[in-house]
Amino acid sequence: MRRAYLFALLVLCSILITPISFSDTGTAQEQSKSDSCINPRSDIALQDGVSVPRGDANVTGRLSYDQNTQNLTITYRNLSSVDEFWVGLTTTHYNRGVRVVNATGFANLSSDIGYSFQWDGETRRPQLTLTVINQPAPRKEDHEYAATPRWGFFPVPSHSPATNLTFAGQGFVGDQFILAGPNTIYTATAGCQDVRLIVPRAANLSESPSSIVDSLASASRQFDVGPRYSYINAYAVTDPIRRGGAAQTHEFWVHDSATFDFSSEFRGGVIPANTWLHEYVHTRQLFVANTSVLLGDRMWWFTEASASYYAVELTTRQQYAGPCEYTYYFWNVSRTRMGQVVLSNQSRWGPNDQGQYRKGAVVLSALDQRIQNETNGQRSLDDVVYRINTHEGTVTYTDFKQIVESVAGTSLDSWLDARITTSTYPEPGLQKNACRWHLTIEQLLYTNKGRAVLAMAALTVFAAGYRIYHWRQS
Ligand SMILES: [Zn+2]
Repeated sequence: MRRAYLFALLVLCSILITPISFSDTGTAQEQSKSDSCINPRSDIALQDGVSVPRGDANVTGRLSYDQNTQNLTITYRNLSSVDEFWVGLTTTHYNRGVRVVNATGFANLSSDIGYSFQWDGETRRPQLTLTVINQPAPRKEDHEYAATPRWGFFPVPSHSPATNLTFAGQGFVGDQFILAGPNTIYTATAGCQDVRLIVPRAANLSESPSSIVDSLASASRQFDVGPRYSYINAYAVTDPIRRGGAAQTHEFWVHDSATFDFSSEFRGGVIPANTWLHEYVHTRQLFVANTSVLLGDRMWWFTEASASYYAVELTTRQQYAGPCEYTYYFWNVSRTRMGQVVLSNQSRWGPNDQGQYRKGAVVLSALDQRIQNETNGQRSLDDVVYRINTHEGTVTYTDFKQIVESVAGTSLDSWLDARITTSTYPEPGLQKNACRWHLTIEQLLYTNKGRAVLAMAALTVFAAGYRIYHWRQS
């Protein structure tokens, strides 16, 4: 009867080590809505600096980065063709530590609303030198630029008239960001969208650059939500820049510690899952940057909610995760509540505005599953995002409800009201059937109730085995 005891233990162990199986959930789209591309430059906000192509500028700026002083110097040329020339930086840049440490041939007209330098009209090759100061601990919220002995990351200043910037030494000039120091550029093409990943030698990526660029290109093809920018620039950054990432129209940066797995969300607290795809999704939100459409205030939650939701959903469409990871992620996020979050009210998003990322993503997971169920898998949340992206003017919450109704083929108004305009915490949209076993194991291992059940089971098996053993002996 000792064998029965061993058998019971084996059964218990096999429950704990059941292998996790992955499957591809990619579905064929009827007809692609993303096969047109638009020029991103027209969507760059006026107050943001931009480096324009050589053909669009008389004035040029040559950049050189001094690794000893950690200063970036821009030397301007071809000013004889212009009457006036201005260079500026915003207070946001200033608050993030960017400083102008030298201005030769410029009058400094800076004020409370930002840096402003006017060319003196005489100096043939005026110069401006930037650096980044007060570099706090890498985790600090606002730390988005860097100047270190190995590399630097700066914003492109605004220029009037438009100016073309290029590096004299090693470095990369994007449209809105400057990466100083040695780097490697990885590229991929997805239809009409070119994907560029710029990796400084100083970075130590947690995922390989080729898998990142391939994943971005796959997401570009799979996320069928309307026109894409004709190119995107993704920058890998490292300390002292904070963890996470940020996007500006078609460009974004991501900290090199980011991974494709979803657990960062539960370790760091405020680091979104798969930040690479999270920031990529922001580049597909025309309602953020394109002038043709914007969100009404009761819809503001949708920006971060959809970036967070699709970071997980698009990873699941690729080989990096399956329905079990998807299910476990949303099950886990929905357990971490942040008080009385009301998505339609910005002042009710909870600590660090985390409600829009977390509750927002949980609501969208439920909505996506609901739409797929209502339409027998013919439609999904992608169709809702497509209709928002191609809407003319402001998308109000009422418009959103109408869009959802026309996509789902049935009114979900009261369902949406409960989840978006009240603090009710919704059940996530789990793909339970795909991995019932996996979810059961996760629940057993990672919840107190589950651990108690396991402990009871182990005790029962042990006690039974012990009694049988003694009965056999006697
Ligand atoms: Zn975001």
